[in-house]
Amino acid sequence: MSTVSKGPSSDKRMPMGERHPAERAKDFNEVGRGYTPEQAIQEARRCLQCKKPTCVSGCPVEINIPAFIKQIAESAPLKASSVLREKSTLPGVCGRVCPQEDQCEKTCILAPKGAAIGIGALERFAADAERKQSAENSLSKNISPKTAHAKNAHHGGKIAIIGSGPAGLTCAGDLAKKGFTVTVFESLHALGGVLRYGIPEFRLPRTVLEQELDTLRGLGVSFELNCLIGRTKTIADLFADNFLAIFVGTGAGLPSFLKIPGENLNNIFSANEFLVRINLMHANQFPKFDTPVYVGKNVAVIGGGNVAMDAARTALRLGAETVTIVYRRTEAEMPARAEEIHHAHEEGVQFKFLSAPEQFISDEKGAVQSIECSAMELGAPDNTGRRRPQVIADSRFLIPADMAIVAIGSSPNPVLPSLTTGLTTNAAGHIIVDKNFMTSLPGVFAGGDIVSGETVIQAMGMGKRAARCIIDHLADGRD
Ligand SMILES: Cc1cc2nc3c(=O)[nH]c(=O)nc-3n(C[C@H](O)[C@H](O)[C@H](O)COP(=O)(O)OP(=O)(O)OC[C@H]3O[C@@H](n4cnc5c(N)ncnc54)[C@H](O)[C@@H]3O)c2cc1C
Repeated sequence: MSTVSKGPSSDKRMPMGERHPAERAKDFNEVGRGYTPEQAIQEARRCLQCKKPTCVSGCPVEINIPAFIKQIAESAPLKASSVLREKSTLPGVCGRVCPQEDQCEKTCILAPKGAAIGIGALERFAADAERKQSAENSLSKNISPKTAHAKNAHHGGKIAIIGSGPAGLTCAGDLAKKGFTVTVFESLHALGGVLRYGIPEFRLPRTVLEQELDTLRGLGVSFELNCLIGRTKTIADLFADNFLAIFVGTGAGLPSFLKIPGENLNNIFSANEFLVRINLMHANQFPKFDTPVYVGKNVAVIGGGNVAMDAARTALRLGAETVTIVYRRTEAEMPARAEEIHHAHEEGVQFKFLSAPEQFISDEKGAVQSIECSAMELGAPDNTGRRRPQVIADSRFLIPADMAIVAIGSSPNPVLPSLTTGLTTNAAGHIIVDKNFMTSLPGVFAGGDIVSGETVIQAMGMGKRAARCIIDHLADGRD
């Protein structure tokens, strides 16, 4: 019989501690503090351990959620972490950045009562317990975390993974667990994709990412950096080098622009460039690192997603006096996670809703000094279900800004498809795959943002399902 005592289902969720906004808005240290063991146990004990758990159906990587929560409730966080690892390559990452409120927590049986279990915070707690344990082991026994995990016997042949974002890492981990010799090729000098160069440290500390990468190294996955597939090596080269199958997870790193007058003025950046300078090139530590970054006094960030929130909160941390999010709908339609919007408000980011940029205005030196916007109103819903913004006639106004960051989305990375004959994409540039994640090239599979989707867990889900399809494909002997 279970030793877990359950709280009444109407219990409120245990809140997770956070650093004070005034303190955290000045540095890049993590905002959330995570549950203490006592808080985690108390929260885990609220889980009803449903016989038919609806939360699992909301998880793209099929984690046995009640099972890992039960282990936490029984004071066994390392066992909880083992349950997570059965299905997930990146639990420490997912516990921090996944939109659980739209997935597993949304389908929790307690969600209609507003008391869904804090699945994300519990996942983070279990993953952090594993990371602490691993660090202690490496200190006390002088075991490198890179070798602390048992290496699998590799008998399944060689598989190439192109891109080290969540899709590629998940596919790599699942194939390595099944005994394949996996090499991940990454064009940048550092691993992780958006987890490295996009999401800031105050949301995802790099020690967490490094731990996940060490786990993969422990499974025998090897990594080749600074290798742009398509140029440094081609897909044909990989097959010639005896790779049996290839998974493409090259992401959607091509920034979109507003295409309005003045967008080429100085001090207007894509969010991608701004965040890469900080997160990948450490421009916040210039001149210790070579890359500088410009920061204005009054920064306007255009967009309403996670990327816009990350750019705005980063600009604040770099010392901007005011940071204003300019968004053409209202807060209710913003695609960013509610938590990110809440944190941005708390830290002092200002919001200018129902405002659409029409042109950037220059100062005498060719740098942006203000943004001319139209006031908007919301009309009927569009095909996304959100009410469509419409311009209010004669409503133009100026927002002063000596720096603007455009964060209105991105499209698939075009490099590999444009350099690979026969790799078919759709009009938007996404690689087309069949129901088995196979592209138009036999033996070449694809998943993550280069195919569809826009979250870490969706990319991971595709990497996981593609790994199964690769195994089936090789077992069938189809080439
Ligand atoms: C700033 C920002 C914040 C975000 N916040 C969240 C969030 O809070 N929660 C969430 O769920 N999602 C978030 N997302 C979205 C999420 O990060 C992506 O959906 C996810 O990273 C996609 O994973 P992927 O593996 O498909 O691609 P990516 O993470 O983009 O990784 C692709 C990798 O492939 C490499 N590559 C590209 N071409 C080649 C080539 N030819 N050869 C070798 N390597 C190549 C790239 O350098 C990159 O490392 C955010 C995105 C951004 C930009």
